[in-house]
Amino acid sequence: MDELTVLRNIKMIDGRIVDLVLEGGNIKEFADAGKGEGYIVDCTGQYVSSGWIDLHVHAFPEFKPYGDDIDDIGVKQGVTTIVDAGSTGADRIDELAESSLTAKTNVFAFLNISKIGLERVDELSQLSWLDMEKAKQAIQTHNELIVGLKARISQSVVGENGIVPLQIARALSDETGQPLMVHIGSAPPKLEEVIPLLKQGDVITHFLNGKENNLFDDGKPLSMLQEAIERGVHLDVGHGTSSFSFEVAEAAKAHGIRFDTISTDIYKDNRLNGPVYGMANLLTKFLALGYSLQEVIDGVTVNAANWLKKPELVRIRVGEPANLTLFSVKEQPIVLVDSYGTERTYHQTIQAEGVIANGEYIKC
Ligand code: ZN
Ligand code: ZN
Repeated sequence: MDELTVLRNIKMIDGRIVDLVLEGGNIKEFADAGKGEGYIVDCTGQYVSSGWIDLHVHAFPEFKPYGDDIDDIGVKQGVTTIVDAGSTGADRIDELAESSLTAKTNVFAFLNISKIGLERVDELSQLSWLDMEKAKQAIQTHNELIVGLKARISQSVVGENGIVPLQIARALSDETGQPLMVHIGSAPPKLEEVIPLLKQGDVITHFLNGKENNLFDDGKPLSMLQEAIERGVHLDVGHGTSSFSFEVAEAAKAHGIRFDTISTDIYKDNRLNGPVYGMANLLTKFLALGYSLQEVIDGVTVNAANWLKKPELVRIRVGEPANLTLFSVKEQPIVLVDSYGTERTYHQTIQAEGVIANGEYIKC
């Protein structure tokens, strides 16, 4: 993209309509609508935001069923940056790093604290798989790629080990400074054991799940959740196949419990067959919940970039590289389905139209 590319008549989230002119992958200028000169991409009716960031995906297709191709869940979904949520542990993270080099999507990763990662779905059921020396080595080798540690703390994953894997993860996190992303699900261990171990900067993913062992009691947030928020624990959606409930999300909103990031927990099956489908579908769910477009987009841009401590990912500034998402909000009714088959309808539909990923225009 050496010549000038003009995103004609594009709407900023604040409502301003401009011609956004790109040169060599950088933003050259914001021209008056209709006045930009160069190769014209007609974006009339479309919005632009900084590139969407999905903090919880599964991007290692070798591990079926919980994997998918990077660009299928990245740029093709309007997402310019993905964070793999512990698909791989120390055994296979080299391969994830390798495949990220050829992808158009920016890739970061949580390292699974089990060296086997999602090679098996009970990856924390044998303590010998929690090889902390090997994990530390991986963190050193892949210090650009790795942004945290992933621990899936639910019964089917930890087996007989209860809270022990999380205690080991806590110690590794404290030693390496890598924050924890903790998946919550069915007990044991109970959340009373799990949540108090989380500190500022750690992430609870699946925080709106509707399983029995969840963060709400009769629609009221548990005090441990309030306390976690006060400590600065980050709340991530991680919709996934079985971890997003409209009822819980409505209760959370009613009690002022705000998401920090909206993430999909996407992999091939829940992308093709639902209930995830893609980031645009998930963002539409949050519009349907009554959040504003600005709040929803913040959940996949500034809030995620702040957590990653990578503000450059969301800067839209003259002279800097362009990572942008182009999307539309159509007056088109849609039926939305959560992980438990509960439906909500909404009168508008968000659609990803394209991205500029590291300066390259890619249509969705
Ligand atoms: Zn999970
Ligand atoms: Zn996941």
